[in-house]
Amino acid sequence: MQNGPLFSPQSDEGHSNDGASWDFSTKAVHAGVFPDPTTGAIMTPIFQTSTYVQESPGQHKGYAYARGKNPTRSQLEAALAALENASFGLCFSSGMGAIDAVLKRLRPGDEVVCGDDLYGGSYRLFTRQYEPMGIRFHWVNQTDLSAVRAAINAKTRLIWAETPTNPLMKVADIRALAALADEKGVLLAVDNTFASPYLQNPLDLGAHLVMHSATKYLGGHSDLVMGFLATNRKELHEELAFILNSSGANPGPMDCYLALRGIKTLHLRMKAHCENGQAVAHFLVAHPKVGKVYWPGLPDHPGHTIAAAQMRGFGGMISFDLASGRIEDAMKVASSTRLFALAESLGGVESLIGHPASMTHASIPREQRLASGVTDTLLRLSVGVEGVRDLLHDLESALAGV
Ligand SMILES: *Cc1c(COP(=O)(O)O)cnc(C)c1O
Repeated sequence: MQNGPLFSPQSDEGHSNDGASWDFSTKAVHAGVFPDPTTGAIMTPIFQTSTYVQESPGQHKGYAYARGKNPTRSQLEAALAALENASFGLCFSSGMGAIDAVLKRLRPGDEVVCGDDLYGGSYRLFTRQYEPMGIRFHWVNQTDLSAVRAAINAKTRLIWAETPTNPLMKVADIRALAALADEKGVLLAVDNTFASPYLQNPLDLGAHLVMHSATKYLGGHSDLVMGFLATNRKELHEELAFILNSSGANPGPMDCYLALRGIKTLHLRMKAHCENGQAVAHFLVAHPKVGKVYWPGLPDHPGHTIAAAQMRGFGGMISFDLASGRIEDAMKVASSTRLFALAESLGGVESLIGHPASMTHASIPREQRLASGVTDTLLRLSVGVEGVRDLLHDLESALAGV
């Protein structure tokens, strides 16, 4: 094999963590990938193939059929696992495909304790597909550990946590949830999409499984849809790999290549998201037309202390309320920014603005939505990596119009 900072691909025993001591930035560039042994190509080839030629029946090079394994995907899985300090990683065709694989391990009668303000797609999957199959979900405010404890019983098999949450950026204490999960013998899985591995590593805090919508910060360029799961538990990994192969929510090699390309700059992008996020949050706090601002980096944010302890930065996701309380004003601001594009999703290099009440959270009954703090005038920003002066100017102009 060629020289260069090699990080061997994942074997049945997990990937050899020979870059474990590297800086996050070094891992983002080098972990999991290696020059192509046949040509020396420094970038991982896109193995656009469905099958692999065998030497004799059953004798192959570890790759038999591309639903189960693809070399482009294998390198991405090792790269992403390294970013989460995990021994094992698996990529899925979408974040929802990854979450679905975790839930497929459950059986009728099993119970799950999950957050009361989950990503809408998770809520839909849990309530529309798994509840009718006999899985029971307990929706609790996971910033309240006693509420989580009270919801656990002998049938509980999984705690599904998301932190920070969407859109109110609630922060759950992963270490405390992990200690509780260990005490009760249940699995703790954390949806780490909003933080990205640059800001937060749930497995290091004691979680057993970490999930990402790689569609967001990991891909980083709004050009792919993908999911990811990582764990240090070999048996759990094997079960999930079995589900991936048998259910077929596998990503294609082109998307794996795009994700590999994306994560090489994850550290640079996240640094810019955090810096711009901080500037935008402080701008909003000082603006007379703005009410509450939700960003975990603000000292009066309820989750600030825990976020400061378990995250390495506060990211670029910010929600804010308009002081006027008029929904027309929120609609107007959301439609009059020029750099902040009006769209769902998050985590790309470009800034986005969204109005949860009419977009991501429109399916939640109004009373329930208001009770949880998602008001008619709440706006959510995914702050991108553009020039901060331009972003502030864009928000200033939009706010001036109401
Ligand atoms: C987008 C998202 C998902 C779902 O991921 P897809 O890639 O869109 O399937 C799950 N959780 C969170 C927090 C998300 O933002």
